[in-house]
Amino acid sequence: MTSGRSPSTPSCDCCDNSFSVRALSSAVVLSQMATVDIRAKIQAVYEALERCYGHQVWKAREKPLDELILTVLSQHTSDQNSGQAFESLRKRFRTWEEVRDADEEELADAIRSGGLANIKARRIKDILRLIWEERGDFDLGSLASLPLDEAKSWLTALPGVGPKTAAVVLLFSLGRPAMPVDTHVYRVSRRVGLIGPKVSADLAHEILEGLLEPRQVYSFHLNMIRLGREVCKAQRPRHEVCVLAPYCDYLNQGL
Ligand code: SF4
Repeated sequence: MTSGRSPSTPSCDCCDNSFSVRALSSAVVLSQMATVDIRAKIQAVYEALERCYGHQVWKAREKPLDELILTVLSQHTSDQNSGQAFESLRKRFRTWEEVRDADEEELADAIRSGGLANIKARRIKDILRLIWEERGDFDLGSLASLPLDEAKSWLTALPGVGPKTAAVVLLFSLGRPAMPVDTHVYRVSRRVGLIGPKVSADLAHEILEGLLEPRQVYSFHLNMIRLGREVCKAQRPRHEVCVLAPYCDYLNQGL
């Protein structure tokens, strides 16, 4: 990772926020206090993102099982490819029972555009079989009322389901305050200094989730992704237009 360069007067190209030198200085102090008061830092980051991108209000997406299978399909590929694979799967098979009982090669053929088709086909069939054996149906609505840790444990016990996939299902489908840490959330969190450089993505789920109030998780997640895609890019982070510049260890401490 290369060293950051301190901006003179950063200004956000989204919300037109600019930071005075004085505000920047005090925020840099906050950045340096990160290990002492990381909660204050993440609250400052949360509020800066809300000022820039607004507060994101939860809207239900897919049903829990649909979200789960879609997220399995999205592993190691783009949203566009996995979306196409999911559409193709739903066209080829009318019900989840049909997918469970399908010939593995036929299922792999249906989801080919999502990549790793043979592995994902086997994984999807195993997931559906296990859910059916345990519950006798494919309704995962009861995850909405389980304690959050139990809901996560249940999901991550399924084959190929890690903390990110479990959190996506719980957050987007059921509105539970679980934090998915994708590549953007992970990169921005490390650069800003919300998590340490050696913290794994799996561990980052628990850390970030524990630092926020439940009502903040959804909006924080979406706003961090937007910042990661548009501003804090992997190769050329646009420090000069970044609303998180005042709080960022990568920029202010040359980490
Ligand atoms: S969060 Fe903003 S200031 Fe920090 S590295 Fe990313 S773009 Fe630069």
